[in-house]
Amino acid sequence: MSAKRASEADSLQQALGVVLEGLAFYELAQIVSADTRVKVTFEDLGRRKAAQRKRLEELTGPAAKDAAFYPNLYPLDAVSKAECYVCGHVVDTRSMPNQCPKCGTARYTFEKEIALTKAWEIAGETSRRSAETLRDLAGKSTGKAKEVLAALSTEDQALADEAGKELAELRS
Ligand SMILES: [Zn+2]
Repeated sequence: MSAKRASEADSLQQALGVVLEGLAFYELAQIVSADTRVKVTFEDLGRRKAAQRKRLEELTGPAAKDAAFYPNLYPLDAVSKAECYVCGHVVDTRSMPNQCPKCGTARYTFEKEIALTKAWEIAGETSRRSAETLRDLAGKSTGKAKEVLAALSTEDQALADEAGKELAELRS
């Protein structure tokens, strides 16, 4: 493998890391948020990341499984754990129980009040930075990889713009 091709493979792995981090964040945020409209919004944002992952995995093949989250754009810490607001018991969001194992209160006790404005703020900020990162990675690539990375960057820029519009509407 030439140096050029090696660096191109790195770019694809890094891009996949960006997308996988976003996907993980939106999945966790969807589970942990209390408000239905916020859940639906995170779910939709997660679907878009899943579609991006699919496009990248078509290029990376089996190496895809090794992609590490990169470059930490998303506030994963804010959603990876959930705390019972009655007794303070902490669980992993992915294994959130139907009732608190310590105090017995129903599942909603672990859910977080994330406002829709906050959801769009996060989507806007992370999409803008993700678009920049993907654009840089596209610049280091050629051919099909460049094309796909540039397309994903454009998608994320469009999502950042969409988030701006949603926020303007919510605040008006
Ligand atoms: Zn509890």
